[in-house]
Amino acid sequence: MTHDDVTAEPAPVPSDCLFCKIVAGEVPAEIVATDERAVAFRDIAPQAPMHVLVVPRDHHGDIAQLAAADPELLGAVVALADRVAGEQADGQFRLVFNSGPHAGQSVFHVHGHVIGGKQLGWTPA
Ligand code: 5GP
Repeated sequence: MTHDDVTAEPAPVPSDCLFCKIVAGEVPAEIVATDERAVAFRDIAPQAPMHVLVVPRDHHGDIAQLAAADPELLGAVVALADRVAGEQADGQFRLVFNSGPHAGQSVFHVHGHVIGGKQLGWTPA
């Protein structure tokens, strides 16, 4: 991924996007919070007592593409993450956006991992 890639025309929305299907209610998920622009649901393989994924309703591939295309929507995703942490834990949280396969991204609809509910260690492997 280069800066040029981020500023290029947005890629078409893949018809088989898992998180688009969760947003649309076509794939079941444990939804914990929603607002007009974003949806929060529990990760299917939680790594902490609170492990929620926050996704924009609109499809963007990763955080850089989202930030370039719609910075207000990125703000909405962060605001929903903060709300989830207040409702599901003590209001403190780690917000992780894996960007690209080498960073561990496996679902290419941008999502923030909202992690907390315990004292977290550092650093990721
Ligand atoms: P990534 O690896 O892209 O940063 O994160 C993708 C996350 O999505 C993983 O933590 C994985 O456990 C979660 N995940 C994958 N498939 C599903 C699913 O069908 N439902 C839910 N709720 N989470 C999923």
